[in-house]
Parts: sequence; C-alpha cells; structure tokens
Amino acid sequence: MPAQLLTGWGRTGATRAEVASPGSAAEVADLLGTAGRRGVLARGLGRSYGDAAQNAGGTVVDTSGLTEPLELDADGNLRAGAGVSLDTVMRTFVPRGWFVPVTPGTRQVTVGGAVAADVHGKNHHLDGSIGRHVTRIRLVTPTGTHELRPEDDLFWATVGGMGLTGVITEVDLRMIAVESSAIVVDTDRTPDLDTTMALMTEGDDRYRYSVAWIDCLSSGRSLGRSVLTRGDHAPAAALPDARRADPLRFAPRTVLAAPPWAPSALLNAMSIRAFNEAWYRRAPRRERGAVHGLAGFFHPLDGVSGWNRLYGHRGFLQYQLVLPFGQEDVLRRTVERLAGGGCPSFFGVLKRFGGADAGHLSFPTPGWTLALDMPVGPSALGPLLDSLDADLAEAGGRVYLAKDSRLRSERVRAMYPRLEEWQEVRGRADPDGVMCSDLARRLGHLGAGATGGIA
Ligand SMILES: Cc1cc2nc3c(=O)[nH]c(=O)nc-3n(C[C@H](O)[C@H](O)[C@H](O)COP(=O)(O)OP(=O)(O)OC[C@H]3O[C@@H](n4cnc5c(N)ncnc54)[C@H](O)[C@@H]3O)c2cc1C
Repeated sequence: MPAQLLTGWGRTGATRAEVASPGSAAEVADLLGTAGRRGVLARGLGRSYGDAAQNAGGTVVDTSGLTEPLELDADGNLRAGAGVSLDTVMRTFVPRGWFVPVTPGTRQVTVGGAVAADVHGKNHHLDGSIGRHVTRIRLVTPTGTHELRPEDDLFWATVGGMGLTGVITEVDLRMIAVESSAIVVDTDRTPDLDTTMALMTEGDDRYRYSVAWIDCLSSGRSLGRSVLTRGDHAPAAALPDARRADPLRFAPRTVLAAPPWAPSALLNAMSIRAFNEAWYRRAPRRERGAVHGLAGFFHPLDGVSGWNRLYGHRGFLQYQLVLPFGQEDVLRRTVERLAGGGCPSFFGVLKRFGGADAGHLSFPTPGWTLALDMPVGPSALGPLLDSLDADLAEAGGRVYLAKDSRLRSERVRAMYPRLEEWQEVRGRADPDGVMCSDLARRLGHLGAGATGGIA
C-alpha cells in the first residue's frame, strides 16, 4: 500500500497514512481484518475541512473504487456505492427528473462521506439532514458486515459518526422529484444581522431553501449585513422560453481553476474586505422570482476548481457552529467579536436549522448555524476561537465535526451530550477500536473501550 500525506480541504495538519483502494465490500472486510495498531478509516473526496478523514500512521481506505451499484427505481429510491459522488448522482439523475433530498455546498462529496457526516443543506429547516432520507446502509465493521436500517442503533451511530463505526459501502436514499434543473429565487439585501434574522424567522418556512451570506467584516450599525437568498425548485412552466425545450438539462462546468500556488498574503483583511463589499453591493436589493440554475444556487464554489489553494501554504479553517433559538444575543456577540477580532473571514453563511436529527453525533439541532472560512495565520485566531467555543458550549451550542480542525477535547462532551450512548453502540461494533482517525485521537472521543486504534 502506498503511503500518502493527507490533509482535509483546509490543507492544515498533514499526516501520513497507508492508502488502500478496495473495489468491493469483501476487500474492505479483509483490510479491517488485517489492520495494524493505528487502525483504519474510510476517506471519500476529502471535503471535510480538518482531520476527520486522516489516520496518521494507520490505514486509510480510499472509497473511490466503491462506485457500484448506481441504480434508481421508478419511485425515486437510489441505491449507490458509497464512493459515488453527489456530482455523479446529480449528473445522472437530474436529467431524469430526480434530485438529491439534501446537498451540502459542494457536489464533490461521496455518498458515504455525506452520510458519515450526516450533512445538511439549505433545506434543513424543512427536510432535516441527509440521514432522514436514508433507508438502508451496508456497513463493514471489524466484527462483520451489516445491513442497517433506521430502526437499528448502529445505523444512527454511523449517520454522523464520522467513519468511526466502520466503512459504509452502499447507501439507499430517497430522492425527490423535480420538473426542472432550476430554482426560483427571491433575494433580499439586509442592512444588519437583526433584520436578516427577523426575515428568516418570519419567512423561511415559505421556502424549501434558505441561506444568508453574511459580511463578517462589517461592524457598528451594519454588523452582520447580509444577502439572503431563498428559493424552490422551479416548475417547468416557470422557465424562460429558451430553457423550456430541455427543462432538466444539467451539465455544470468548472469555469476557473485556482493557480497551483498562491501566497498566504493573498487573502488578508484588506482583500477580504474588498471582496465582501463588492459581493454585497452586486446583489440586488430586493428581487423576486429570478430563475437560477441548480449548480449556481447550491454549489457556486464548484465552478472554481482547487479554490482552497487560494489560502496559500498555511491553509484555512472553517468554524461552523449552531446556537439554539433563544441565544440570538450570543450569536450577535459572536459575529461582533469575529468582526473586531483581527481574524478576517472570507465567507460567512447563516442558516436556520429545523428539528434535531436522530444520529447520536449529528450536528444539526434547532437553532442558528453560522459557518465562516478563515485563513490560518493571525496569532489571535486560536485564542479567539477557543473563547468563542467556551461561550458556545455554555449557551448549549456546538461546532460541526466535519469542519473542525482545532476543538479542544474537553469541550466535545458538553457539545455532544449523546457521546456516551454513541461510544456504547460503537464499542459493540468495534470492540478492539480498529476504526480511528486523527480527529478521534485529538478529541479523545472514542472512549475507554477503544484500544487498537488509539496509540
Ligand atoms: C465547499 C464546501 C461546502 C460544504 N458545505 C457543506 C454544507 O453545506 N453542509 C454540510 O453538512 N457539509 C458541508 N461541507 C462538508 C462536507 O459535506 C462533508 O465534510 C462531507 O463529509 C465530505 O464528504 P467526503 O466524501 O469528501 O468525505 P471525507 O471528507 O473524505 O470524509 C469525511 C468523514 O466521512 C468519513 N467517511 C467518508 N467516506 C466514508 C465511508 N464510505 N464510510 C464511512 N465513513 C466515511 C470519513 O472517515 C470522515 O470522517 C462542505 C464542504 C466543502 C468543501
């Protein structure tokens, strides 16, 4: 097995692992059966930002060979190999009138990686995270191969379990029917955070999808000014004449490629401020019923390949938190401290989560979720985020493990109160602690029962 240096999408904290590329569930089972002391972990397309898909000194299972089957029945039930990307699923089935029930902000994730992180999209307030739409998974654990359904504990330990219960090799997912590959979008440019939150609270439930882009550098009276976009799948009849002939056409292209190398100084407070200003100004103040393509609405960053390289050699991190409803003051204070903390954020996104999801370690809980991309570098960054974590935990919030690269282990228990329950279910599937990751070692959250993978 070749050894490779791996990082997450943020390109920080590289570690080396032996990378295996099995082509079937049987080969995955062999790998788990012959694991060394540092254990095994699945990796999809490496779109988690931090160290969730790394396993220093151990084995990493590259799932790109697990692409069979890829089938859809007449009722929209998809069966996919865990290594199939959402990009492939959409390119194959949107033209036939079926869309994924939940999509993150990039199509470049695998079905297995999406389930392992229990990803959410812009429709969480109505549809929950992806686990709610999964009807079966095949999971290979160190103790055997399991066909799991929502009535099984191990199913919910795996959905959101960040690869630590075993390797998912197949997923069944309920797709949704669409008449077109377009979204009808309403846009509002807001002057501040309070207006943004008020609009979302009052009107989100009228839209399937909702997201606010926040200018995280504006302060004072314009603190948290935003561009709020909300939309629904467009009926074929709503399309402009030019698109009516082929309403389900879906063939998104990459329009730009980031250079292979960029100086760390490229994204600094000044350039980020200029970008945010331009982005805010270019959005319509108020627009109703604009027709956008699926790719532009859901995955604008996929149009620029390798955009993570723009952050330079030091890389970047994403800080994504959720705060329960009723803790809006803490959210306001968080945005205030980030705007004034000398740690510029290129990208800030605010969404409203609906009901909690059933995964033991699923991230979404009812409340506000804020996600920020920040270049690594400013010395104030670590202390600022540590201090925000403390406020967050006290307010009943949490950070998203699929984005995390820096949370301290003592916080994880407070943020994820079902951790012990998860450890107990995981311990039955993997009593010797074969499944392990850098994230799990850093957070120490595998519990006392795990030994083999934890060195
Ligand atoms: C631009 C961008 C936008 C994003 N937007 C969102 C968003 O809106 N909502 C959201 O929820 N997330 C979002 N994400 C995060 C992303 O959806 C998750 O990190 C997802 O898990 C990445 O999938 P992957 O296939 O790349 O998995 P990887 O990053 O390779 O792995 C992620 C985790 O899944 C595990 N895993 C992967 N495959 C398997 C498998 N077959 N069996 C068991 N475990 C497995 C890994 O061990 C690891 O713990 C975004 C990421 C990017 C880069």
